[in-house]
Amino acid sequence: MTDIKRRGVMLVLSSPSGAGKTTISRRLLGADDALKLSISVTTREPRRGEVDGVDYHFIDRAAFDRQVTNGELLEHAEVFGHCYGTPAQGVEDRLASGQDVLFDIDWQGTQQLQRSARADLATIFILPPSVGELERRLTIRAQDSDAVVRRRMEGAGRELDHWHEYDYVVINDDLDRAINEVRSILTGERLRRPRRLGVPDYVKGLRAGG
Ligand code: 5GP
Repeated sequence: MTDIKRRGVMLVLSSPSGAGKTTISRRLLGADDALKLSISVTTREPRRGEVDGVDYHFIDRAAFDRQVTNGELLEHAEVFGHCYGTPAQGVEDRLASGQDVLFDIDWQGTQQLQRSARADLATIFILPPSVGELERRLTIRAQDSDAVVRRRMEGAGRELDHWHEYDYVVINDDLDRAINEVRSILTGERLRRPRRLGVPDYVKGLRAGG
């Protein structure tokens, strides 16, 4: 296979919580060695089964504020009363080495990245098939209290309104199809001309009769 040097993609997935974004992310990551998850920092308490350093870096508010002040985060936002942020460390090196980074962040973080890293971004908004399904998924997660689920349902409407700020929209009414659509988007984004840094040399080789 002709391997042409490329710059990595910053792939952003956003959705109201419960739309299936985490499941889609896990399946993508499991099947693609060139794609790694950006592990956010958060001040939220871990849910049952969540592992520090795998799902999130769980930190306290003082540590979070310190990271913001020191410019260690590419973006940060408050979501449902907790602080979340994307560590800058490692992202540029990955992109420069032709590896992709997946960001599971909300619309506020996406807006910030659109201002600071537009050329590297590909953004996807995942929509649930219905509000009833969203509620069902939030409830069966059964790890959040009723009050938290209610709050997230109330927030879902506001989050939905940001779909039009994204490059792509995927409707998750069929998980396998949604995953295939996201994969196709990533494949296309990897092929975008500005990311294909090795093409000039490749063409030079062709011109030289190689
Ligand atoms: P959860 O608490 O359910 O894990 O996440 C709540 C929301 O915060 C989700 O929409 C998730 O995408 C978003 N989120 C997670 N990490 C980050 C981050 O680093 N930055 C921003 N802006 N949002 C995040």
